[in-house]
Amino acid sequence: MRNLIDKLEREHILEKDEFIALLTALSREGHDGETGTYLAAKALAVREKYFGRDVYLRGLIEFTNYCKNDCLYCGIRRGNPKAERYRLSAREILDRCRAGYELDFRTFVLQGGEDPYFNDERMVEIISGMRQEFPDCAITLSVGEKSRETYEKYYQAGADRFLLRHETAAPDHYGLLHPADMSLANRQECLFTLKDIGFQVGAGFMVGSPFQTLENIAEDLLFIGRLKPQMVGIGPFIPHPETPLGSYERGSADLTVSILGILRLMLPKVLLPATTALGTIDPESREKALGYGANVMMPNLSPLNVRQKYDIYVGKIHLDEEAAEGVARLKSRLKELGYETPLSRGDFPV
Ligand code: SAH
Repeated sequence: MRNLIDKLEREHILEKDEFIALLTALSREGHDGETGTYLAAKALAVREKYFGRDVYLRGLIEFTNYCKNDCLYCGIRRGNPKAERYRLSAREILDRCRAGYELDFRTFVLQGGEDPYFNDERMVEIISGMRQEFPDCAITLSVGEKSRETYEKYYQAGADRFLLRHETAAPDHYGLLHPADMSLANRQECLFTLKDIGFQVGAGFMVGSPFQTLENIAEDLLFIGRLKPQMVGIGPFIPHPETPLGSYERGSADLTVSILGILRLMLPKVLLPATTALGTIDPESREKALGYGANVMMPNLSPLNVRQKYDIYVGKIHLDEEAAEGVARLKSRLKELGYETPLSRGDFPV
């Protein structure tokens, strides 16, 4: 496998069957087997070349859990009557940004379900309010599929980045995870549109989602190779009992960590979070992820009283902890591990 990893480092892409061979070895041996160890060393060297020991922290504000979509894996899907719905007001969102700014966050991520209440006018008001009050901060949106016109309004209002995981790049697999009124083609098109408008974009997928094969993951990697996003979010699938896919097995933290290493070699300058889902199923693997090239973490800045309601999957970590104490603890842990958390937006390096 070493020759494949060397090739990946050199050419930043592999053939599909080569990706499958590499993924097969990594899932057979575990992330700390011979292949994984070799991959990690390369990934870490690349990450250090571009980012040194920096880890960027992003303040995540989950501002609505209303959603018009019915994704079969997601706990806040429209079809879950047990989800207790909430929305934050523009004022509450700005309050969380103020608290985040005091905690040294210089990126705010607004994430939510696809909630029609937040129409263009309301979103533009929120984004411009943030842009005006925090001119030195990046604004990241993660609000799903919209028209080009809507994305342009967000961009003009001052948003800089957009996270939209493609979820899976295989159309058949996409169809098994989503209702018939959603399409992979549209989601992928949205990503290219966002990039064209000028957003730094983040694609990504769940590892170990139901029916996923290693061939599917190879297809995800090939899609990412074509899109060349500035960010990639991957995390293990975690079943939510109130969804149609609630009885499937969770994804592997181990394989997720290995795939982070592959992504770092494919896209040397990519912003790569060690995600909350990863930390949820295995707290140690969030730290391992940093050793495989991850360089971003996204602590939760949502108000305490809504946190447990943004319940995409079960057992999300730090539900009961004030952002301030959580961030202080995270920073000191990162310091112990030899990482820095610079006071910076942490943009994609040009
Ligand atoms: N509505 C927004 C935000 C979605 S939530 C959008 O469409 O982009 C953010 C991510 O959580 C999703 O993209 C999905 O990959 C992940 N997610 C949803 N349910 C999950 C589950 N059960 N386990 C793990 N990750 C999940």
